[in-house]
Amino acid sequence: MDKYSELLDITKKYGQEHLLKYWDVLDGEGRDKLYASIKSVDFEKSFNALSKTGSGAGEDISEDDIRPISVIEKPSENTAEYKAYHDKGIEVIKAGGVIAVTMAGGQGSRLGHEGPKGTFDMGLPTHKSLFELQVDQLSELAKKTGAYVHLFIMTSEINHKGTCDFFEENGYFGYPKDKISFFCQNMIPVFDLNGNMMLAAKDKVVTAADGNGGIFSALISGGVLDSEDGKKAEFVYISQIDNCLARLCDPVFIGCALASGKSCLTKTLMKTGPDEKAGVYCVKNGKPCVIEYTEVSPEMANMSNPDGSFVYGDVNAGIYLFKKSALEKVAGNGLPYHRYIKKVERLDENGILFKPEKPDSVKLEMFLFDIFNYIDDVTAFRIKREDEFAPIKNATGIDSPASARDLYYRRNKIQMNKIAELDGDEMTRVVWQKIKDIVLSSYIDLNTEYYDLGIMSRDSSDDSVTKEAALAIKRLKVGVKCATITPNAQRVTEYGLKKLWRSPNATIREILDGTVFRSPVIVKGIDPMVKGWKKPIVIARHAYGDIYAAVETKAEKGSKAFITLKKDDGTSTEIPVHDFKDTDGIVLGMHNTDKSIASFARSCMNYALSVKQDLWFSAKDTVSKTYDHRFKDIFQEIFDNEFKDRFDEAGITYFYTLIDDAVARVVRSEGGFVWACKNYDGDVFSDMLAACFGSLSMMTSVLVSPDGCFEYEAAHGTIPRHYKRYLNGEATSTNPIATLFAWTGALRKRGELDGNVFLIDFADRTEKATIELVGSGRMTGDLVKLSSCEDKVTLDLDGFLSEVAENIYK
Ligand code: NAP
Ligand code: MG
Repeated sequence: MDKYSELLDITKKYGQEHLLKYWDVLDGEGRDKLYASIKSVDFEKSFNALSKTGSGAGEDISEDDIRPISVIEKPSENTAEYKAYHDKGIEVIKAGGVIAVTMAGGQGSRLGHEGPKGTFDMGLPTHKSLFELQVDQLSELAKKTGAYVHLFIMTSEINHKGTCDFFEENGYFGYPKDKISFFCQNMIPVFDLNGNMMLAAKDKVVTAADGNGGIFSALISGGVLDSEDGKKAEFVYISQIDNCLARLCDPVFIGCALASGKSCLTKTLMKTGPDEKAGVYCVKNGKPCVIEYTEVSPEMANMSNPDGSFVYGDVNAGIYLFKKSALEKVAGNGLPYHRYIKKVERLDENGILFKPEKPDSVKLEMFLFDIFNYIDDVTAFRIKREDEFAPIKNATGIDSPASARDLYYRRNKIQMNKIAELDGDEMTRVVWQKIKDIVLSSYIDLNTEYYDLGIMSRDSSDDSVTKEAALAIKRLKVGVKCATITPNAQRVTEYGLKKLWRSPNATIREILDGTVFRSPVIVKGIDPMVKGWKKPIVIARHAYGDIYAAVETKAEKGSKAFITLKKDDGTSTEIPVHDFKDTDGIVLGMHNTDKSIASFARSCMNYALSVKQDLWFSAKDTVSKTYDHRFKDIFQEIFDNEFKDRFDEAGITYFYTLIDDAVARVVRSEGGFVWACKNYDGDVFSDMLAACFGSLSMMTSVLVSPDGCFEYEAAHGTIPRHYKRYLNGEATSTNPIATLFAWTGALRKRGELDGNVFLIDFADRTEKATIELVGSGRMTGDLVKLSSCEDKVTLDLDGFLSEVAENIYK
């Protein structure tokens, strides 16, 4: 029989000959397509389904007998019960007793993503797709168990090829290729209101996916249950591609299913409030089911247990574990179809494609939940939302990539190598702890070597703790320090100290032999005094010698001043300074060392490389032809011999200019460079820059050693006035930005040294969230006084940090 006659036979039997209307105008290829399209339709099943569907309208549940569903609470980690389930689950996995199924038939169009939803990049710094994140989990599981769980991915007609190609192109993400299979959800024709099939093109029947409940028949038609691994399996695990926190084949879930003997465990979450718009689990007329929120009466929604939890509060998480035997019983017969009236694109009378304005086509869909009508022993397995549930459905807002990223990191805390943590005093010690509790620990498994540089700890250890901390920075390469009290006489009395301990910063600088770089945080609404400055200007001050280590004296009229250099061999040279013939005067003798200048130069160049900014150095070599010229020469030699290539590679430059020229250039610049200054210049200009950029509470600083160790801190002190208020129980509006940025600086540096992209991403995002928060008008009290934002809101310390934390990944 030829193709046309064959199709005519089939369609005639069901009164659908109109599907062949364009046969005559189709070419060979078109006819083949139409043939395939019509042959793929199961006419008998489709018409049967159509005739059995009701109106699809919600049923009145008032007369139904509704009871709560039985619930098993997922035991918390570290309990014996957890371990027992877990170990049982692992045994099942080892023995090949479970297969995993991912429902991934959707496209990413609602997320603005072209292609299958599983190929969506949710914005992790690794840019892993949702598919890869799932496969990674099974790879982890395989490391633990030595067994590769077979992953079956349910696709749909629109994304089947795209999905298969994606896995092929990405080498199955390192998972064994024969342990990942794809099967397609079934399609069913769409009917017009008279019960006739329609054409989507001259060579194609209008069909649509048969609903999420179609998964069960697809497990059979797609050969999943009949595959080698499917046959072996006792359990079928099912979850959706859009939940980036789903724990694939969670051993505890599997162990509990085994222990309880239930045919189905379904993961549920407690609803967030009585009004949450989500279906809840219950038992209706003896059958487990999910009833839509629209059908839940306010009374039922609010009903609570003696412990305050909702009686009908278990919301569906879309994660199931079925005994295969239970599925096989049901899946063969198929679930009933429901009828929806929808707008569906199709050919009109004249063969032109159109989309109707009103819904006028009948779509048939199966409901996944309907399976519970056929399985009596369904139990809710209640999980904690934050542990396992972060769906990505919308481009922004609730259930978006942003909210999912936030939840992702709150669960999968970022791992890091150690840094040295140097705690400090008074208000900044309070700020320190809050930054850790509210911001950092939410997303990072903080790994620090802790040194308490609080004044009492320094006092009781005779300040040895400061030296140990400095050595730890040398060893670990990165440290972060809280502001500390440098005791004066009044502090000795106030804290009852043994003695007037040295400034911890001086001790640390001595051990690390470092240079301090100060950099302001720039935010919208707090504009630098110099209008052209758009980016921070970092000042590096040479903190050794010159007038800070000078000797000086008065010279009487009639005296002569000389510089005398005495060598070890007894010879000496005398250089006249001035002859005070006819007036009194003053003389100053100052020095510096090649060693210290070289260290300074190396620190500056290392720092410039680390922030990828140009380096300027300025002195007055035209006047000081030996002293300042020595600085200039040492810088140039070190640059040429050790740094030039690396600067070229980083696309940055080093240049020297006279100090007066530098000042003019700095003022005319837009910022964004590192300015290396001799000791006195640095002292003066760092204070000038701090004042010009706005506030000390926005100034961060980092000590960089010539061998590449980094210690980050805020430039301000311990803010004793705020501390007194804090001790009196008042909420303070202390600005934590400089201290927070000290942390992010240290974390970023740790990330850079270790290639830890998650840590770098965290640091970048945290700084961005902070700057944007202040830019949006939400800030601490000190900034409110400075900001030109229109609607300013003063936040207290806790409030500010909480808002930063919330926005990091959003
Ligand atoms: P400070 O602690 O920086 O405080 C000076 C004033 O600046 C504060 O009273 C406060 O003004 C304002 N301020 C500073 N940081 C602020 C912030 N984050 N948020 C809001 N306001 C802030 O300086 P200090 O009072 O001269 O020194 C106090 C102690 O700190 C001393 O014992 C000193 O030795 C030590 N210190 C340590 C370091 C260090 O460890 N690196 C550096 C400097 C000083 P209002 O009171 O007007 O709000
Ligand atoms: Mg100064």
